[in-house]
Amino acid sequence: MTIEAEIEVDTPVEAPTKPNLALYWASSCGGCEIAVLDIKEKILDVDAAFDIVFWPVAVDFKIKDVEAMEDGEITLCLFNGAIRNSDNEYMAKLLRAKSTVLVAFGSCASEGCIPALSNTTTRQATLDWIYRDSPSTVNPDDVRPQERTEMPVGVLELPAFWETVRTLDQVVDVDYSVPGCPPQAHQIWAVLETVIDILSNGKPLPPKGTVLGAGEKTCCDECPLEREEKEITGFVRPHEIIPEPGKCLLDQGILCLGPATRSGCGGLCVSVGVPCRGCYGPAPNSKDQGTKMVAALASVIDSQDPEEIDRILDGIVDPVGTFYRFSMARATLGRVTIDTSLRESEPTEVRS
Ligand code: SF4
Ligand code: SF4
Repeated sequence: MTIEAEIEVDTPVEAPTKPNLALYWASSCGGCEIAVLDIKEKILDVDAAFDIVFWPVAVDFKIKDVEAMEDGEITLCLFNGAIRNSDNEYMAKLLRAKSTVLVAFGSCASEGCIPALSNTTTRQATLDWIYRDSPSTVNPDDVRPQERTEMPVGVLELPAFWETVRTLDQVVDVDYSVPGCPPQAHQIWAVLETVIDILSNGKPLPPKGTVLGAGEKTCCDECPLEREEKEITGFVRPHEIIPEPGKCLLDQGILCLGPATRSGCGGLCVSVGVPCRGCYGPAPNSKDQGTKMVAALASVIDSQDPEEIDRILDGIVDPVGTFYRFSMARATLGRVTIDTSLRESEPTEVRS
């Protein structure tokens, strides 16, 4: 008997293959990444259900690892952040190609959010403010970032900074969106749990374009404060009055975007007396959060006199920034200013 025959050779056991998960962060503050960790110990369930194949904020994968993947190899990609520069665009296109299901995750990817407020001005004005005019800037030689810089070690490159901030679906095809700035942890878990259930039990995916992790009503519908839809004669800022407890803030003249905002957060802000700023995006069946809010205000202003109405509306500080704080990239009013020197590398379609 040979030695080989005496030794029982173990047949290698293949680990069961799990679906692949990727998470990426484009132009955003990083809050959506933190929000994923807010699901706490359930992150272990995510790890058990998926192979995490790309998550730069947490795991040291490189872009070349994604480039080497087959198309569709990533089962689910949660993409947060708006598309503000050429690097964001490259990663959006790369992850679209490599992902079976691509989700616009959070307000920046879905609606543009805070980065898209710069669509109210120009690329040039934004750069001038940052590198010349801001009180915190010390830049006597007016040095500006260059896309290409020749150095002895080679060429250093920076992403091209675009004129217009876009949502993910204004650049690539997107399957689903998850609203919120950031999405609330219970909703993130609900989305992941649904996906895990679909993958393990072979259930059909929801129809393309479905908004996941949110409700089908407005923030007012899940607000614990009592709304009487009183008519008001002026607006006040939250620090200017002590609101009556238990009563609707809008009824008291505090600008609250609850009537124009999708439900899903559980009335997080309004339940502690802070007006809704609209982070769950436009209400269902409404494409434009700002015009929806203007319509809601029209029904609560107590005047028929145009001059009086003007005086009341003048009490709203920064109307565009208030009504479109989270959804400027989709606003039907479009860009406030257009720079005619639009970059050739930018996509030509501006918004859907
Ligand atoms: S307007 Fe604001 S405070 Fe009033 S019911 Fe709606 S969400 Fe609540
Ligand atoms: S109350 Fe409004 S601003 Fe606050 S978390 Fe909910 S949707 Fe966002």
